[in-house]
Amino acid sequence: MDLSYSAEDEAFRSEVRQWLGDNLSGDFAGVRGLGGTGRENEAHDERLAWDRHLAEHGWTCIGWPQEYGGRGLPLFQQVIFHEEYARADAPRRVNHFGEELIGPTLIAFGSAEQKQRFLPKIVAVEELWCQGYSEPGAGSDLANVSTKARLDGDEWVVDGQKIWTSLAQFADWCFVIARSEPGSTRHQGLSFLLVPMHQDGVDVRPIEQLTGDSEFNEVFFTAARTGKDLVVGAPGDGWSVAMGLLGYERGVSTIGQQVGFARELEKVVALAKDNGSYDDPLIRDRIVQARMGLDVMRLNALRTLSADEPGPGDASVSKLVWANWHRALGELAMAVAGPAGLLVESADPYRVSRLQSLFLFSRADTIYGGSNEVQRNIIAERVLGLPREPKG
Ligand SMILES: Cc1cc2nc3c(=O)[nH]c(=O)nc-3n(C[C@H](O)[C@H](O)[C@H](O)COP(=O)(O)OP(=O)(O)OC[C@H]3O[C@@H](n4cnc5c(N)ncnc54)[C@H](O)[C@@H]3O)c2cc1C
Repeated sequence: MDLSYSAEDEAFRSEVRQWLGDNLSGDFAGVRGLGGTGRENEAHDERLAWDRHLAEHGWTCIGWPQEYGGRGLPLFQQVIFHEEYARADAPRRVNHFGEELIGPTLIAFGSAEQKQRFLPKIVAVEELWCQGYSEPGAGSDLANVSTKARLDGDEWVVDGQKIWTSLAQFADWCFVIARSEPGSTRHQGLSFLLVPMHQDGVDVRPIEQLTGDSEFNEVFFTAARTGKDLVVGAPGDGWSVAMGLLGYERGVSTIGQQVGFARELEKVVALAKDNGSYDDPLIRDRIVQARMGLDVMRLNALRTLSADEPGPGDASVSKLVWANWHRALGELAMAVAGPAGLLVESADPYRVSRLQSLFLFSRADTIYGGSNEVQRNIIAERVLGLPREPKG
């Protein structure tokens, strides 16, 4: 298996590095490092302006086919872009849900009109999206959603509650899974709807987190409306669309993040050298373990990318490994900080340090995008061929 980059890929890397170096300057010099783990609310307007600048220069949706406004770049070059992006300490992107999730889903499942209506505005970062899957009674068990949708003339009317809806406070649109066939159960009778957020029937209530940030929200739909044609796939067949989208969530979009992780580890090591904890053999051992974990993740990502077809469970293995690695990094950061890790930077207004934020937010890594237990179930059933979990 050849894990090296081609000369063409290396030339592409130089081009990306040069462009980012040239453009993260002047008006955008201050955006470096903004956003990120536990700090999604940070400098949203500045990051939005940066994302639009990327779009103007053709650096959004680089993996999408050219006919939909992308560059149609091969997977390795997409990874290179993400690596260089993180290496340059460029800010966290604001339209993950549009570019990485709903865009590819519309390309695969959307009607010609839906593609024409939505894709250009995702490429240009003119409309932001959020994901309305989870509900108080439906998380891992997504088929249990109780949000309802019914047709009223030319419109769908949506009623129900979503929760943990990341970045809903900035979103223009939400993709919602709702039960559209009364009396249906489980995977049947669900529809995948595109719902505008700016209307009276949508109420977004931020949930304040331990980091002090309000990255996610409760979203209430009360007779919210959307067009009859804004259902993706056939009405009642939303489950297959919803699962198709999760394939993107657990797939390519998480590759290439290791450079960002390496940067965080460097900060932890710098603190350890600064406060003397680097001399503690137990701390050094954990730092070595973390470095090795990074190498394992990188080799595993390259192995997966080199395969002709992704294997069943590849995305679950990758999610399980990075989520646990990252959570352990947060714990290591606090061990390195020692008693100082218990003190917030400011009590009023409440503000925690970047490493505290890393520790607190990384507790969620093993939950969102499919929890550890759910990933293990997938690996057990689809990779190891163990008996399927009994369903009640
Ligand atoms: C930071 C963050 C951001 C999020 N953003 C979004 C978002 O933008 N949009 C959205 O729709 N959702 C979002 N979520 C929700 C996320 O998808 C759910 O939290 C996740 O699917 C788990 O669901 P739950 O919280 O209802 O927990 P539950 O499903 O109730 O799980 C509780 C516990 O039981 C375990 N468990 C559940 N089922 C099984 C099983 N079959 N076998 C073994 N163990 C099991 C779980 O692993 C977990 O430990 C976000 C969550 C977080 C933490």
